[in-house]
Amino acid sequence: MSFFAPLELVPGDPILGLTEAYNADTRATKVNLGVGIYYDEAGRIPVLRAVQQVERQLAEQSKPRGYLPIDGLPDYTRATRDLLFGGESPLVSEGRAITTQTIGGSGALRVGAELLKKALPAARIAISNPSWENHRAVFGAVGFEVVDYTYFDAAAHGLDFDGMLADLVALEPGTVVLLHACCHNPTGADLTPAQWERVVALLHERGLFPFIDMAYQGFDRGIDEDALAIRLLAASPIRNFVVASSYSKSFSLYGERVGALTVVSDSADEARRVQSQVKRLIRANYSSPSTHGAALVAGVLNDPALRMQWEEELGRMRTRIHALRAGLVERLAANGASQYDFIARQAGMFSYSGLSKAQVERLRDEFGIYAVGTGRICVAALSADNLDYVAKAVAAVS
Ligand code: PMP
Repeated sequence: MSFFAPLELVPGDPILGLTEAYNADTRATKVNLGVGIYYDEAGRIPVLRAVQQVERQLAEQSKPRGYLPIDGLPDYTRATRDLLFGGESPLVSEGRAITTQTIGGSGALRVGAELLKKALPAARIAISNPSWENHRAVFGAVGFEVVDYTYFDAAAHGLDFDGMLADLVALEPGTVVLLHACCHNPTGADLTPAQWERVVALLHERGLFPFIDMAYQGFDRGIDEDALAIRLLAASPIRNFVVASSYSKSFSLYGERVGALTVVSDSADEARRVQSQVKRLIRANYSSPSTHGAALVAGVLNDPALRMQWEEELGRMRTRIHALRAGLVERLAANGASQYDFIARQAGMFSYSGLSKAQVERLRDEFGIYAVGTGRICVAALSADNLDYVAKAVAAVS
């Protein structure tokens, strides 16, 4: 008799499964648009020059590898908080915002979810329909009932803002509302600044709890522009909110697992109590975060010259994504598929292309082009080499 006998086989992650199928494909022309990773023009995950510079310094210093504090490297958490709130936020100077280093943005979501489950044990969480798949899993795993709010209008290929407002208004006060700060994953449909103002006002009026997921700061319009939701919340009368942020994309440091949880409390005293709880949650989970990725990010953000270099490199990634979007729309139209102009209006790495499951299957079977079954494609996996091929294939199945 085995103690593991009752355990069933559960399905693997569909997106990671897609990459396995792609790797096994022997066609030379294959393209993986299923991933959530930014690739450069040569099809490689970039190693940013600013990061390389710090990496060289760290290698030379060869510092001892003691444990970090439970809440992470202070140079990292301070710089992260400043990036989220901008230079001078009263909320920061009043000691109401505390940032903790976490194991990627995913770790921030998990620690944040556990904290909120303690503070608001009866609350539900509302996530956008659709949302990043893992949102449901993470909040479900800590015992939250997860509900959806309307977000995407498939026919219009954009945000259904009226539907979103109607659903948010109907939520019970105290419900946690998960919002993507920018570059919505998976749809690429974001709120305009005026729409953000409406949402922040509504969150306040209805007594809802904002939980911001910021996985792509700087990937759409700029570091400050992409943080608008956070800046508006900070300037609003709302006393509490949390932010889960990640440097996986903006520093191209996916495997280093560099993220942060920022919790905004009502006062400095409350913030200290909240932080003691955050530390206890982490201590009982993975005890303390890892050093290398945080040292890289802190090394860049706290050195004015390297920071400027990073901002340039981030800007180039952003500009390239915009150019790929425009290029794809143009090539599609040139191949007779002119219905895809919305792709150029979407933000970030992803696009809900509107391709059906059957069309996605044809792309895979006939062309070796891999996309998620929902029609999500990663625009940042396109390049000058494959753009024409992908446009022709998409036009052929459209
Ligand atoms: N939130 C969203 C919306 C994401 O797309 C991702 C990454 N795919 C994450 C969180 C998690 O980020 P990380 O890889 O740093 O855990």
